[in-house]
Amino acid sequence: MFRWCSYCQKFLGEKEPYDSYEISHGICKKCVENKAMLDQEKLEKSAKIQTLFKLISESILRKDFQFIRTQLPLFRVLKVSNADIFFGLYQPLLCEAGKLWEIRRLTVAEEHELSTTIDELVSLSFSQIPNIEKFRQSKTPAVLLTALSNNQHILGLRLIEHWLCDKGVKNKVIVPGLPANEIISLVKEFHPAVMGLSINAFTPELNSFLSELAREADGSKIIIGGKFTYTITQNDIPAEVSICRNISELSTLLIQKSIITD
Ligand SMILES: [Zn+2]
Repeated sequence: MFRWCSYCQKFLGEKEPYDSYEISHGICKKCVENKAMLDQEKLEKSAKIQTLFKLISESILRKDFQFIRTQLPLFRVLKVSNADIFFGLYQPLLCEAGKLWEIRRLTVAEEHELSTTIDELVSLSFSQIPNIEKFRQSKTPAVLLTALSNNQHILGLRLIEHWLCDKGVKNKVIVPGLPANEIISLVKEFHPAVMGLSINAFTPELNSFLSELAREADGSKIIIGGKFTYTITQNDIPAEVSICRNISELSTLLIQKSIITD
């Protein structure tokens, strides 16, 4: 479940149950301290955003995937940040679409259409980041992200790429996924502080690959992420590899590594 503060309009991360893609509108600590619930203007803004979320979610059920594009200027007016739109709206929408596909309410083609629309919107947002060339596809990345070649769900990595550029973190994100030997070559070539892999299935081969990658990484911290990682625990994978399930956990890791400050 995705948590959203109704008052400051910030995406607050995820909470259990992780396989539910509903958005829970609550209140963050800061807004409690500032008594935001007494602020009439904030309440009105909050109601507008919740309505917008509802309309966009319904448009997915109607299979009107262009609707989200037409509503984006309203988010700008309401001053919702790109990062909050990405992780608090696009991410749950994509997860919801996957769930609708599982129950045959969406076809593969329709799910692709939604992904393509969101991918385009993310691409447009990249151009709004100042000095992006200093951070994106860096030759000295602090964070390198990719996926294994069988993983076709790569939009999550693009959302994180945008977030890293926005935070001023030098990064390199390679999508779609790569063959295992190329991933090992990459970590040796670039020596990132953090090397992240998006995982969509768990096999014994994956574990032996992760062990090999950690051995070859020469100090790079290896992490695995993606929705799928909610179904496994640290005991399932090699000890040198960490699980980073969502943007909040990635953020915590990057703070620990002094790559970002907040
Ligand atoms: Zn708040």
